[in-house]
Amino acid sequence: MYPWAMLETRLEPEIRAVRLEGAALAETLREGVRGAAAAIAAVDAPPRLRVFLVGEDPASRAYVASKARAAKECGIAAETVELPSGTPREALLAAVGEANRDARVDGILVQLPLPTPELTRRIFEALDPAKDVDGLHPENVGLLHQGRPRFVPCTPAGILALLDHHGIALAGRRAAVIGRSEIVGKPLAALLTARDATVTLCHSKTRDLPAVCREADLVVAAIGKAGLITAEWVREGAAVVDVGINRFERLEDMPENLRVSARLRRALQEKGRVFVGDVDFDDVARVAGWITPVPGGVGPLTVAMLLQNTVQAARSRREAG
Ligand code: NAD
Repeated sequence: MYPWAMLETRLEPEIRAVRLEGAALAETLREGVRGAAAAIAAVDAPPRLRVFLVGEDPASRAYVASKARAAKECGIAAETVELPSGTPREALLAAVGEANRDARVDGILVQLPLPTPELTRRIFEALDPAKDVDGLHPENVGLLHQGRPRFVPCTPAGILALLDHHGIALAGRRAAVIGRSEIVGKPLAALLTARDATVTLCHSKTRDLPAVCREADLVVAAIGKAGLITAEWVREGAAVVDVGINRFERLEDMPENLRVSARLRRALQEKGRVFVGDVDFDDVARVAGWITPVPGGVGPLTVAMLLQNTVQAARSRREAG
């Protein structure tokens, strides 16, 4: 046994994180959506989703295109309304109002971010709660916080589906959610609390964030800061969910800890661009028990949940007559 076998064991990390892949589960969920959409279309018009894209941000454009593609592929009629970045607030509110009144439209999604927080709030308030498939209208937020959600926001819904699918226990566990956005951090904290986790909702003003994360059995990063979370932040065996999506086209723009990754260098060379999360994957995968990859972890589930919520909206609206 000594010395070579022992040396080898030392060189191997003690824990090899299980990758929480989103694509296969997303396909299973989409299969269900296809069936539900076909059942609706057999007796009525197919479910219809209207997506608003404001401005020219290439990332938002790509997300909207992939959502519309996935919807159509599942038998949901999807239409994208593109508005230039200078669109006056009244014009955007009028467009949302028109979608609210259009009886053919079942679900409305306004792609975030919008130019200002004020406009974002106004849009949330303007949405018909029955068509608000990302659960952002104040009424839907209230229902979620009371533990009786109408629509669970798509990204948090996807994260819970992924954790449940892999049998990751939540009750009684400590969770650190980093990022307090209306669309990810806040609703996820509410959902994890409802599942009996003890949640710390962290943000840019949190003191000694690494220490808070090290206490957690589950760390969720929804920040938008590439590779911020390293192995020193993560307790051995913890589950780590990476929501962040950060795009780079040049190695020198990446943070130092990611620049050394042979995997990312290769990807950059081959494709001319690379997507990374808020977690330093190569580093954290050595200590975590579970970890989501970027891309391919949370992203596909966000889209699948949007389709599920749209079908749910279509069903509820038809039942309500
Ligand atoms: P956001 O961009 O609205 O806000 C960022 C949050 O991070 C804020 O709450 C802020 O307090 C916190 N923050 C910023 N710097 C911090 C720091 N140094 N330490 C701790 N907290 C800090 O949040 P968002 O809209 O939830 O987006 C976050 C990331 O998730 C982005 O990269 C976005 O592209 C991505 N995202 C991915 C999906 C998906 O489906 N995978 C969905 C939504 C958002």
